[in-house]
Amino acid sequence: SDHDLDYPIHPNLMDWHQHYPTFFPSPPAKEDTPSLEVLNRPLDPSAPRVEWADIGCGYGGLLTSLAPHYPKTLMVGMEIRIKVQEYVRERILALRRREPGSYENVSVMRMNAQKFLPNFFHPGQLTKMFFLFPDPHFKKRKHKARIITATGLDEYAHFLALGGLLYTITDVRDLHDWMVQHLDAHPLFQRLPRDEEEADPVTPHVRNSTEEGIKVERNRGEKFLAVYRRIPYPT
Ligand code: SAM
Repeated sequence: SDHDLDYPIHPNLMDWHQHYPTFFPSPPAKEDTPSLEVLNRPLDPSAPRVEWADIGCGYGGLLTSLAPHYPKTLMVGMEIRIKVQEYVRERILALRRREPGSYENVSVMRMNAQKFLPNFFHPGQLTKMFFLFPDPHFKKRKHKARIITATGLDEYAHFLALGGLLYTITDVRDLHDWMVQHLDAHPLFQRLPRDEEEADPVTPHVRNSTEEGIKVERNRGEKFLAVYRRIPYPT
């Protein structure tokens, strides 16, 4: 259940300081009743903000692999399982201790990403969203629980900036077909051609850095990748 999750009622009230103390030197001012002025404040393009979200990040392999390559980009993992989230948190803190000044741009939170994205992000805030080896929910009556659905995509499109990228990868052919079918049908997403997918420096991390991806590799399983760009409303 979600009632023990910790989330702000509005993205402007989020305490990013606890996640990225280097980028947010102080916590937000605590107000009993948030003022309209604070709630209406638009995203400041010159202020630091989370840009990449790894949805269902599992044990954190993607983010810990990307973080040192993109030290100025803030990235967050969202993971619903308490123990797994705690593991990733410890993993990041240990990396920060071992390499002072590094890994300051990566963090993780325990969150149900299917419910609470609007509490954390402004429309168009994210430039990348990752859905790597999501739970397949094999049974037909469970398909609506999948993380990529028509309504899920409406929301992801809302939080992705124009030109932003949504990455999916899975070893389950049927799930890949499902994700591609829904993304192809969505007016705000366009699939990247294969050569652009391969030219993207993030693609190798998507394929090979997550714990699930490594497991598939070990079992010589096939991996099905699809990357989509957030495009404008068709006119
Ligand atoms: N992406 C990781 C990887 O490639 O190794 C983990 C893949 S694992 C099969 C799927 C993960 O998504 C699990 O850790 C699960 O707890 C998490 N998850 C499922 N539904 C979620 C949700 N609504 N919000 C956040 N995490 C979720």
